[in-house]
Amino acid sequence: MKIQFLGAAREVTGSKHLITLNNGKTILLDCGLFQGKGEETENLNRDLGFNPSAIDFLILSHAHIDHSGLLPYVVNKGFKGTVISTHATRELCAVMLADSGRIHENDTRMNNKKRAKHGLPPVEPLYTHQDADRCMNYFISIPYNKEFYVDEGIKLTYTDAGHILGSAVVNLQITENGKTTKFCFTGDIGRQHNKILRIPQVFPQAEILVTESTYGDRLHTDLETAEDDLKLVVLETCFKKKGKLIIPAFSVGRTQELLYALNRLIGDGRVPHVKVFVDSPLSVNATNIMKLHPECFNDEMLTFMKNDPDPFGFNGLDYVQTEEDSKRLNNIKEPCIIISASGMMEAGRVKHHLANSICNERNTILVVGYCEPSTLGARIRRGDKVVSIYGVEYAVKADVRVLESFSAHGDYNEMITFLKFQDPKQVKQMFLVHGEYETQIKYQEKLANEGFSNIAIPELRQTFEI
Ligand SMILES: [Zn+2]
Repeated sequence: MKIQFLGAAREVTGSKHLITLNNGKTILLDCGLFQGKGEETENLNRDLGFNPSAIDFLILSHAHIDHSGLLPYVVNKGFKGTVISTHATRELCAVMLADSGRIHENDTRMNNKKRAKHGLPPVEPLYTHQDADRCMNYFISIPYNKEFYVDEGIKLTYTDAGHILGSAVVNLQITENGKTTKFCFTGDIGRQHNKILRIPQVFPQAEILVTESTYGDRLHTDLETAEDDLKLVVLETCFKKKGKLIIPAFSVGRTQELLYALNRLIGDGRVPHVKVFVDSPLSVNATNIMKLHPECFNDEMLTFMKNDPDPFGFNGLDYVQTEEDSKRLNNIKEPCIIISASGMMEAGRVKHHLANSICNERNTILVVGYCEPSTLGARIRRGDKVVSIYGVEYAVKADVRVLESFSAHGDYNEMITFLKFQDPKQVKQMFLVHGEYETQIKYQEKLANEGFSNIAIPELRQTFEI
């Protein structure tokens, strides 16, 4: 069999890896959207590099859009196979892909207005929210830790990756010509300490290992300090400077972690009462789905829920649904916290909150996650003094703070701790995906020091015989 890397190759978005068996059957691991590369993004997403109608099985590691977001497009282009995911991933995909469809529709509408002014013909969105609804018909979902017969000679077991709700390591046993190959795709790897989810689980020994490398050259500050770090930023912004705290955050995972932390801080009086707005319709849906999956929670969380059955809700928290209500937040004069998507600040309602707040030194922008280098988030994070939002230049006068402790990706120590569940000598070939190239080179060296060998860093569309 062979494997071709069709995304997340020397970068962090567009996760897609195609396995072709000797008998011609095909398995696509993940179906992620390329994000944050301006004009180039559209071309990368439309030019798949494979024939969707020839894909038999599409196995998802988790619901993040850079791992699942191209599914509706692939279905539109003729995919007729089976999409396999965990139960929670399927539920999250139902709301996240529809949300992504609406974003594409809105972006295309805006783009077409501009094109019309230049006498250019309108373009079609990559996909719509109806396309996203339709692609859900191709899903089947399975639990963790239960061997699933995919097809003759193909068995799948999901183990918990501890990254977001429903995230999984894809463990495959593929038998060809009487020989079984143990193949593993880690997807994104969670932290060794997580306030809500279980930590990444031991997974079956692999011979071929495809693994992420986002933070392959970095160490996070301890997660234990996350709440205290957040407390200091809230106290300084909302009580000392009496300003607004804008937190751009992914709707799934990071937003719930922030809410849980704020619930605890306000609940036990470490932070005085303050208005908190979650301004992202997707966050509301994702939070509701999360509440339905206590089976994914760790013991600490389950203990907490004995006293507070709603860990993501508290007095003073408002979910903002409509666009009108979202815009109304611009008129609020008193200190408040606004959590809004997207985390990389490239799309979504957070952009108008940034435009409204970034020029005032009383306010703070709190960056809590990874930002792809070409995004607005990365520009704000690295301290640019002037940034462009909706084509208008804004002077950055608000404080910009970064809290790594909320990351959903393990740092290199955490990833290595997880990978050392394996006997490195039995891993015959390793592939690093989902990371910036310079980071991957450093991580490759660290893994070699841990006894792993044959570690490749594939280029986009590179194929390997395995
Ligand atoms: Zn992810």
